[in-house]
Amino acid sequence: MATAQTARIHPGTCGGTYGGTYSGTLPGRIEVITGPMFSGKSEELIRRLKRAQIAKRRVACFKPDLDVRYNRTAIASHSAQTLDAVTIANVEELKAVLLPRLDEIEVVGVDEAQFLEASLVKLANELVHLGKRVILAGLDTTFTGEPFPPIPELLAIADEVVKLSAVCMQCGAPAIHTQRLGSNQALVVVGAAGVYEARCRACFQPWVDEHATEQMALPVSARG
Ligand SMILES: [Zn+2]
Repeated sequence: MATAQTARIHPGTCGGTYGGTYSGTLPGRIEVITGPMFSGKSEELIRRLKRAQIAKRRVACFKPDLDVRYNRTAIASHSAQTLDAVTIANVEELKAVLLPRLDEIEVVGVDEAQFLEASLVKLANELVHLGKRVILAGLDTTFTGEPFPPIPELLAIADEVVKLSAVCMQCGAPAIHTQRLGSNQALVVVGAAGVYEARCRACFQPWVDEHATEQMALPVSARG
């Protein structure tokens, strides 16, 4: 009998009381969009973020400031799709911008995630446990064909992985590699046409001769 009195439903302990507005402990989701350059990663990221906006989700988008390719304050794909983005120097700066606004943000997008540090993995895990949808786009391999940290770790913890291929600019086959043209061996050289090409496994040459670097016009089918 006594239990009948103590079995009152408290709003704080019954999720049903909150109806559809309760989202604090619902699981979030990590989506990673990867592949070589010219495979349409930024375009896919922008597509997903724009769809989230259409669905009235509050979106915050970030990109490392190393990427000065087209626009310092927006994500740009090679096909000229853009979306406003906050330019950040590193993960600490991303957190400094995002965390004070976290209550109002539901979807977090990051472009060119391969330019950020390993602490991005921890941040993505923290955000997903707070119920956020985290969408990360970045190169999975370097121009030497090695895994490009922290993308491999992000792939491992993702709910969804989208691995896009480009079009080999030598033979037209599906391309998984980013070919660096010229002799500059710096890991991070920002740019696109004329500095990099998409290449298939057969055409990929990790250490290309400087004299073999003719700048190629980008075929329309390889953009994005
Ligand atoms: Zn090829």
